[in-house]
Amino acid sequence: MPANVLDGVDAAKLIDGVAIAKQVRAAVAREVEALKARGVTPGLTVVLVGDDPASTVYVRSKEKACIEAGMNGQTIRLPADTPQADLLALIDKLNADPTVHGILVQMPPPKHIDPQAVILRIAAEKDVDGFHPVNVGRIWIGEKSGFAPCTPAGVMVMLESAGCRVQGANAVVLGRSTIVGKPMTSLLVNASATVTVCHSKTKDLAAVTRGADILIAAIGKPEFVKADMVKPGAVVIDVGINRVDDPSQKKGYRIVGDVAFDAVKNVASKISPVPGGVGPMTIAMLLKNTVRAAAQGMK
Ligand code: NDP
Repeated sequence: MPANVLDGVDAAKLIDGVAIAKQVRAAVAREVEALKARGVTPGLTVVLVGDDPASTVYVRSKEKACIEAGMNGQTIRLPADTPQADLLALIDKLNADPTVHGILVQMPPPKHIDPQAVILRIAAEKDVDGFHPVNVGRIWIGEKSGFAPCTPAGVMVMLESAGCRVQGANAVVLGRSTIVGKPMTSLLVNASATVTVCHSKTKDLAAVTRGADILIAAIGKPEFVKADMVKPGAVVIDVGINRVDDPSQKKGYRIVGDVAFDAVKNVASKISPVPGGVGPMTIAMLLKNTVRAAAQGMK
């Protein structure tokens, strides 16, 4: 994390995703040991179709994280022109393989592949990404066997680690995507928050966000949330990952969130930075889901 992002920020204010993810990963490693002692090594298989550079980096870090936690982590790389039928046949094989507890097909796939067909084909019990409609439903009805998508699940762990009281809080979720906003909403509702979901058609957005005790920003717009959109003392979690041009950086860009961190940190009681906030939690939660899939498979 670049030192300048957090310079002068009161440490007690920061929700440090790197540190929290480390704790989650250590707990996962202990659970892996316990499962191994019972004869099962949790295994995650990631399937990558094509060679999109960002996806390649994500996939590599998922495999590395699995291995560090003592799990089996394998990546199956398929050429970009792989027919959909071949990918579905591979998923069938992985569904039937007892050594594979979690299956993740890196999204988005190439254009000729229908992502929904892929998601539907993965056995719900191995869908550690939590995108299968069965898991979406299980999470909505609060069934513990369901898998929640890793990013919003990570946000819930961050709120808990930060000692933030969710029950009864007014939570505002900015964004209604299938992978972040909607599952975030269901997790917060199930944790007894009063939740408002905002999107591009929301009227007078700032008036809504100013009512939030907990504000979750997941819209993909760099530094969109300004200080005057935040209630003093609110807890702010920034899910956004946006590249902005920055000639002062060697790479020519830097990563910022959906929240104008420098200004909002003076208003919020607690805030997660970008980078170093939600990002590291996502992979940690993926490992956690995979270990649970392995444990549930033993019953
Ligand atoms: P999507 O583009 O799928 O969804 C964006 C949502 O934000 C939509 O619901 C959209 O509304 C809403 N929105 C867009 N512009 C506005 C606006 N001006 N005012 C109000 N609402 C708006 O994004 P994702 O949910 O996939 O991702 C959101 C951000 O989170 C991105 O920066 C992404 O990179 C990041 N991300 C980070 C992850 C992590 O691990 N930390 C994981 C996943 C995502 P509408 O529905 O009306 O179009």
